[in-house]
Amino acid sequence: MHPTSMTDDQRTRRAVQARGATERLSTHDIVGVAVTWVDNSGLTRVKTVPPARLEHAAVWGIGASPVFDAFLLDDSIMSGRHAGSPVGDLRLHPDLDKTVVLAAQPGWAWAPADRYTQDGDVHPQCARSFLQRMTDGLRADGFTALTALEVEWTVGREGGDDFVPACTGPAYGMTRVIELSDYARDLLSALAIQGVQVDQFHPEYGAGQLELSVAAQDPVSAADTNVLVRQTIRAVGMRHQLRTSFSPKVLPDGVGNGGHVHLSLSEDGTNQMGGGDRPGGLRATGASFVAGILARLPGLLAIGAPSAASYLRLVPSHWAGAFGCWGVENRETAIRLIPGSAGSREWSANVEVKCVDTAANPYLLIGALLAAGRAGMAEGTALPDPIEVDPAGMSDQERSARGVVELPGDLESAAAALEADPVLTEALGLELSATIADLRRAEAVLTAQLSPAAITDLARWKY
Ligand code: GLU
Ligand code: MG
Repeated sequence: MHPTSMTDDQRTRRAVQARGATERLSTHDIVGVAVTWVDNSGLTRVKTVPPARLEHAAVWGIGASPVFDAFLLDDSIMSGRHAGSPVGDLRLHPDLDKTVVLAAQPGWAWAPADRYTQDGDVHPQCARSFLQRMTDGLRADGFTALTALEVEWTVGREGGDDFVPACTGPAYGMTRVIELSDYARDLLSALAIQGVQVDQFHPEYGAGQLELSVAAQDPVSAADTNVLVRQTIRAVGMRHQLRTSFSPKVLPDGVGNGGHVHLSLSEDGTNQMGGGDRPGGLRATGASFVAGILARLPGLLAIGAPSAASYLRLVPSHWAGAFGCWGVENRETAIRLIPGSAGSREWSANVEVKCVDTAANPYLLIGALLAAGRAGMAEGTALPDPIEVDPAGMSDQERSARGVVELPGDLESAAAALEADPVLTEALGLELSATIADLRRAEAVLTAQLSPAAITDLARWKY
């Protein structure tokens, strides 16, 4: 169970952990530990401490302003209903069980932070604690979730802010792996040294676009891994004079960078996503879980598609899952059921949420998906039949007759959908849900007069 407040016992446990971590780091010539959290706009923010200060940081936290909860992607600060004041302070407590020596940043280690108030309570806007709460809630109902985030990114040449692809080989082409051979070797090797279990790495469709997938883990670990993988990709890229973009849309035309989430759920050790008699092999519980997510996709987009660039990516026939429906191995539906191969289905079947992207805060995103799925199970939400075609080819009437949910097409509609969703707002809590909605509206204002090209320019090197 995740502590809701920093008790004396907690502090004692953290001190012991810190001594173990400091000891481990001492053999690696570490001079700084980067303690990160991901803000509500999806950017990873950091404070760093030398190893000698780690125990103090773990036990008493590192001071940080709560104003970061109100940061937009360009570092401007909105004034929200529950965030944006320069007054006050909170504490970042590194989770030292997760400390990793960074292979591509010699001298550096990393640990993700939980955020507490100065009074020792979990901070209401702590995304990592939110995810832990959602995971614990599912577990209390008897379910264990396994999740993994795919990462798509684009590599460009250094030299300016315009995008010049770092490779010219074709989509999925071996030529790209040859062009980027040393970079890719250093990336895979850094991830292996850091203990990240890579499942697959390949060139993607877009210019300079690559993709990496990792093994499924418990939800908080999956989000931590996502943060670690992204910073490793960036660090390795810099050592090869390459610029990395996780922006949902790097250029106004073409495909974007997705950040698909894979989810499976087991009860008493049985995977609910496979081996059942529902369409695609779902079991009844798995079907309700998927139905819960499907029904809440509009509000979920405020979290999973958090930037103006997200809506340039989320267009039909770009494999981004722009239609609010599900399908079996259908890459144009927002939710794709992956039943797996015959013989492996009972354990490998999972659902992939595709309409979300790499600008999303992974902790908020997975937590919100779990909350939506859990509500689907509690309510016994019915799952419509799967869509077997590209929904772009269906008429409006056909789509509505088949239960295809219209997804928000911009930040303002996503913010409104989030606020209209009682399950998501209750799970997030008033402060976090209102701040997310406020930020999406503030980014809508910031980008209102910008052309698609200007939006991609703004977001390209921020994510
Ligand atoms: N790049 C696509 C996206 O924007 C996804 C491609 C794929 O199916 O892996 O989500
Ligand atoms: Mg892909």
